[in-house]
Amino acid sequence: MVDIHCHILPGIDDGAKNMSDSISMASEAEKEGIRTIIATPHLNNQYDNRKDLIVAKVDELNHVLKAEGVNVNILPGQEPRIYGDILEDFEKDEIQTLNNSQYIFIEFPSNHVPRYTEKLLFDLQVKGLTPIIVHPERNSELIERPELLYKLVEKGALTQVTASSVCGYFGKKIKSFSMQIIEANLTHFIASDAHNINSRSFKMMEAYDFIDGQYGTDYVYLFKENAELLVNGKNIIKEIPSQIIKRKKFIFF
Ligand code: FE
Repeated sequence: MVDIHCHILPGIDDGAKNMSDSISMASEAEKEGIRTIIATPHLNNQYDNRKDLIVAKVDELNHVLKAEGVNVNILPGQEPRIYGDILEDFEKDEIQTLNNSQYIFIEFPSNHVPRYTEKLLFDLQVKGLTPIIVHPERNSELIERPELLYKLVEKGALTQVTASSVCGYFGKKIKSFSMQIIEANLTHFIASDAHNINSRSFKMMEAYDFIDGQYGTDYVYLFKENAELLVNGKNIIKEIPSQIIKRKKFIFF
């Protein structure tokens, strides 16, 4: 199994604090059957993780895991918070795509979707990049306006839903929106976004078990296959997306 979103690199964001945390996380992942992890440290106002640093840290962690006998391979990635100059920084070779593929993560602020998003996602695609919106199910504007997510996906963006969201660890509202996103073919990947082995662990097996029970093996196959295709820089499988019909709010007088 491949996990394409994980804060496993030691001491550079709010994920693993040190090498010992990173080893524990990799061991936990191995137990869940994960053999490949894309390390995706934050790039935002708080954490300035650029490509060079990420590549060096991935190298270091792979050496340590080999020495420790943990059978998990770490690949380079990044989780940039959306900002206007991201393409300029990409040109400067400071942005780390997912395993050096055409796929690039984009994180939105948790409470809104910036107005320039549609234009920026378009510009990225013109450059040959495929943006993947991370955990749309946790964005409060998208919960209120799911048609906006449809529009972005319809225009070529991909999305990644977090395993813990599907399992309900972020609450009922986010679980139910995750399910609506899956049902509407508005997501293409399930990933852990693991930060540690306690409060924000992998939950990949649990999520896939839930998806299997709810939607059948075909869905599990699609998500697992897409993660493999991404790692290999190949085109992923896309189903035709549909609109999420927002549940009506009942007003009582
Ligand atoms: Fe993340």
